[in-house]
Amino acid sequence: MSTAEIIARCEELYEDTTFAASRAWKEAAPGRKVVGFMPVYIPEEIIHAAGMLPLGILGGGDGLEVIHGDAFYQSYICRIPRSTIELGLTGRLDFVDGMLFPSICDVIRNLSGMWKLMKPNVYAKYFDVPQNYRDDIGGEYYQREMQELRHDMEKLSGNKITDEALSNSIAIYNQHRQLVRDVYAMRSDEPWKVPSSEVYLLMRAGQVLPVEEHIVMLTDYMAAAQEEDRPIRDNCRIITCGAFCEQPPLNLIKSIEMAGCYVVDDDYMLVNRWLMEEVPTEGDPIKNLADAFLHHSADSSAKYCDTQEKVGQYLLDSVRKNKAEGVIFAAPSFCDPALLERPLLAAKMSENDVPHISFKYAENSGQMQPIREQAGTFADSLKLWS
Ligand code: SF4
Repeated sequence: MSTAEIIARCEELYEDTTFAASRAWKEAAPGRKVVGFMPVYIPEEIIHAAGMLPLGILGGGDGLEVIHGDAFYQSYICRIPRSTIELGLTGRLDFVDGMLFPSICDVIRNLSGMWKLMKPNVYAKYFDVPQNYRDDIGGEYYQREMQELRHDMEKLSGNKITDEALSNSIAIYNQHRQLVRDVYAMRSDEPWKVPSSEVYLLMRAGQVLPVEEHIVMLTDYMAAAQEEDRPIRDNCRIITCGAFCEQPPLNLIKSIEMAGCYVVDDDYMLVNRWLMEEVPTEGDPIKNLADAFLHHSADSSAKYCDTQEKVGQYLLDSVRKNKAEGVIFAAPSFCDPALLERPLLAAKMSENDVPHISFKYAENSGQMQPIREQAGTFADSLKLWS
């Protein structure tokens, strides 16, 4: 299969706000259930081990007209909660048997409450993750949260989640995470072979397909991309930062590339990469997942940082590791976690002579010309003066 064929399939999934692929998975066998989750991180293994499909809900993108959703929220917040409400009210998520709302900000917390009011007969949970990274405090707490989720998923699915089933799911997700890391490493090594718009579509497909199918897709894509003869351009190497929750429209990512930038790292769809090292498959699987979350999870503005000195270190490390020449801070309008930390991250970049620019977007931003001009000017200035 060629990259064009794989990416065409991903684009079809990206544009489909009816979630036909996930519906088809559910209808393929009696008794199957689907559990939706909002960004940023959910231990998908627990849903998977219960025999259900974890489905990433990333809002309505730029293909969904929000009519009812606007009535639920004030105007000065991000767009993803409104478009998610719209998805719910228009029946697009009527096949979803449960919804998880990970703790990321007040907006998502409120959305979980609204969901319960809108759909009183559908399981919904605000899933809290620890803000304390000590084993005896945050670790203990998180294990209890996951045990509660495990119990709920057993009840919802009607299937017992044994330690063995959970460890098997961890092994499958380990394989998946490794492949995701491989795609990112390949893009950083040879960005002309792996355009960011393709990586983005590939990663988004992973939110709606069963993990086993996505593993095959990632494997096929890397093999096909390796064979493809794509010209090397005189682009600069940049990192985009701030898009960990509400995702940018595809055109924004294409615009950054067309402006002369190779994106060599980003924070899109962190759920695919949250756990950065292999999770052990021996021993207590819940403890293993908790340890991985506490000690081997990706840093971002979505995660509490316990010391001032460490703020932004992950971004600086990524700049160095990926040999980036600059950083583009691109975050959703009104996103508290991203925009509150942005000045600190920007200061860290300035202190270390890493050039940076910033802009905001919404998942339905349509006007790309200003972004292309800003990114193009940034790319030119990097080429001329860095
Ligand atoms: S985009 Fe930002 S503010 Fe909006 S729901 Fe996500 S994390 Fe919260």
